[in-house]
Amino acid sequence: MFENKKKTNIQALGEFKLIDALTGANKINNESTFLGVGDDAAVIKSDKKMVVTTDLLVEGTDFDIMYTPLMHLGYKAVVIGISDVCAMNGIPRQILVSISVSSKYTFEALEELYKGVHAACKQYNVDLIGGDTTSAVSGLTISVTAIGEIDTTEVKRSGASEGDLICVTGDLGGAYAGLQILEREKSVFKDQPTMQPDLAGFEYIIGRQLRPEARVDLIELFTELKLLPTSMIDVSDGLASELFHLSKSSDIGVKIYEDKIPLDQQTYDVALSLNLAPSMCALNGGEDYELLFTIPQSDYDKIKNSLDITVIGYCTAPHEGKVMITKSDNVVELEAQGWQ
Ligand code: ADP
Ligand code: MG
Repeated sequence: MFENKKKTNIQALGEFKLIDALTGANKINNESTFLGVGDDAAVIKSDKKMVVTTDLLVEGTDFDIMYTPLMHLGYKAVVIGISDVCAMNGIPRQILVSISVSSKYTFEALEELYKGVHAACKQYNVDLIGGDTTSAVSGLTISVTAIGEIDTTEVKRSGASEGDLICVTGDLGGAYAGLQILEREKSVFKDQPTMQPDLAGFEYIIGRQLRPEARVDLIELFTELKLLPTSMIDVSDGLASELFHLSKSSDIGVKIYEDKIPLDQQTYDVALSLNLAPSMCALNGGEDYELLFTIPQSDYDKIKNSLDITVIGYCTAPHEGKVMITKSDNVVELEAQGWQ
């Protein structure tokens, strides 16, 4: 899965050399990072509110090493944490990365993983300030703790009111469609190991699955537009499930329109070729790491020219439930499948 064919055993290398090698070229870029890697703990310093979040990725449960390049995995692990910071209206500043790793992984494999971690740190201007490293009986587990600063006010899941507009960034369902293609090619490979995977034409959606991005740009745009969403969540488990969270926390109903859900053409085409309704990829897929948020109608003018924000519906009274108006104008109840 990567170029470096050397196979250095991590046990032979030892923990300290390993940590040094993985964190060695680490640069500190944020004012709030007072002390980074190398001591018993890092020190951070800020006069702003800070947001902290942790995510855990477990081999076999959260990723399949057969089709996940390690560099992408390192990048994605960081993005997942950063996306949660964004969902609180925070700007990411620091991360801590912990790994538990079995001897099937060589030092070169971990270097590859950390290339992705460092690439994400560079992309999002985040400092790697610590972590922990331990051996495991089997597989690979990565935990990322992300820390951010809140420049204005935190945005929770609970602030939406009846009449607010429901907005999403980017397009949805791509990561799920990409996963279906990767799973398909994996089963072809299992039957015929000599077959090369045929991924041509699916680059966008596979990229959405393997190497997603977090929408820090939108958080910066909110500040620029002086726009404070009334509620917000990131789309990690699928649009339907996230709408359920907003609805429950804010005590509102939601009404969305199927024809407004933003889908990329590749997502649409792949969904149809797999006999899936394209909107279902967005509603029940997940891992898109876009932002779902609500704004008062009076703020519509602030977002109406942004090509990257789509209004998909509005908040209703709680007793009106959670519904979608389909393309054929039927009213269907939303169902949240969530994570399985
Ligand atoms: P301790 O014994 O106090 O846990 P370690 O030897 O594990 O210390 O860690 C030494 C330094 O390296 C600390 O700053 C720690 O945060 C950092 N560190 C350890 N493992 C990792 C890792 N996988 N990624 C990033 N930093 C790490
Ligand atoms: Mg330690």
